[in-house]
Formats: sequence, structure tokens, C-alpha cells
Amino acid sequence: MKSTAFSLAARSARQRRQRAVLPAFGRALATTALLLMGLLSCAEAAPPAADSARPRACPTAAVAVAGADQSDFEDVCHGAAAAIAFFTAHRAEATEGISIEVTPRIPADAGPTAAGCYIEHRRKAYLLPYAAFKKNKTWFGVPISRATYRALATHEAAHAIAACLFRVPHPTIQAKEYLAYVAMWSGMDPMLRSKALRTLHTEGFNSLDRFTPLLYMFDPMRFGAEAYRQFTAAPEQTALIHAILSGTALTD
Ligand SMILES: [Zn+2]
Repeated sequence: MKSTAFSLAARSARQRRQRAVLPAFGRALATTALLLMGLLSCAEAAPPAADSARPRACPTAAVAVAGADQSDFEDVCHGAAAAIAFFTAHRAEATEGISIEVTPRIPADAGPTAAGCYIEHRRKAYLLPYAAFKKNKTWFGVPISRATYRALATHEAAHAIAACLFRVPHPTIQAKEYLAYVAMWSGMDPMLRSKALRTLHTEGFNSLDRFTPLLYMFDPMRFGAEAYRQFTAAPEQTALIHAILSGTALTD
């Protein structure tokens, strides 16, 4: 069974465009094709874990983290708890525990520059260890810190939560990424958030139609920042989240 991966790149979109525009586009098209081929239901049994490190349960949230040292474990737990709190605040309770593996080897499905990803058919999120993530120096235009690492964990945990809450079999990539980014920004340290948003120069979208797969594929950082700006300006945020989950907003 092929997998569908939603990754957060470690490098900026501009850096990646400079490195390999056509390969990146190829990967993007492949991801879209896999999306169209269908996603596995959350009711389907997960395959046995292949990681050797035994998962540890986070102290305050239904999250299991494997492969992390103590500092990474605490950050991943913190970041995942922020994702759970975001959805809970909008009356969208996580329906099952979240499984996260910290590994220097992000699954190839996510692409060579990914710092994290969520693999739907494994129902599992993957994150680089902080030490490996920090080698990229910046993320969203700001220096990488423990706070950005927690935000990375929030994003991937949000994918895991949303994957089980969608009430349509084939949600769009823009629907998935919009929710993951909005949860990420919402749970982020406010100082870091304002600093990062200042570097991204959002214009403010007045329509959800502006959130396209192409924007996400070619400029995921901007997609994420515009999503947060649009969301925070929305008069009915909880209703918007449920419209996305039910497949009536951010459709193709
Ligand atoms: Zn994502």
C-alpha cells in the first residue's frame, strides 16, 4: 500500500526552489497523485511498530513518543499537547492517541529536506531529533530554537489528530495543511509567532479559494502564514474548522 506523507520542510521554500525546482515539483505531483488514490481510514488497524526504541507516554497527553532523548521527549510532548488543546478548544476532540517517532531518518515519502512528516497509513508522525533539526539554522525565517522544535511537533501532531476527525474519505491537501498550520501557529510561543509572521510578509487572503495545492507545494511557509492570518480574522473559527473537517470548505 502506498503511503501519503505530509511533511514540513527543514529548509525554506525559496532555498528548495533554488536547489531543485523540477524534482520538488515532481514530488509534489506524486503526493497529489497519492492523495487522489485514497487515504486509509483511521478505523484500519495500524501495522506493528518497526522502531526499536520503546515508546514512552507523555505525562499530560495521550501521546506516545519513541526514539527521543529526554529534552526532545519533553518538547515533543509539549508540542503535541498544544495540538490536542487547539482541536479541543474548537470542539474537535482527538479520537485516539498520537504516535510520534523521533528519528534522524525521516521516511523517504516526505522528501529529502523534511524535518517532520505524518504518514497516514502508519498513523504515525516522524520528527528529526532537535540536534539534527537545528543544523538547518533557520525555520520560517527565524533561528531554530527549542520553541520552533515544539512548533514542528504541534504541526505533525495536528495532522495525526485531523486525520481521524475528517468526515470525508479524501480531504484535500489544502484542508489538511490549513488545519495543521493553524494549530501550529495557535500553539506557538507568542514571541516566536510574531517574529516569524513578520518575516513571511503575508498579504491576507479574503477567500479560502486562495489556499491552493500549488501554493502549498511551492511556498508552504507562506501557505501556513496566510492560513493563520485568514483563520484569526474569521468570525466563526470553530464553525470553519468543522466545515473543513466535514469537507464543505477547502474543497477542490
Ligand atoms: Zn503538514
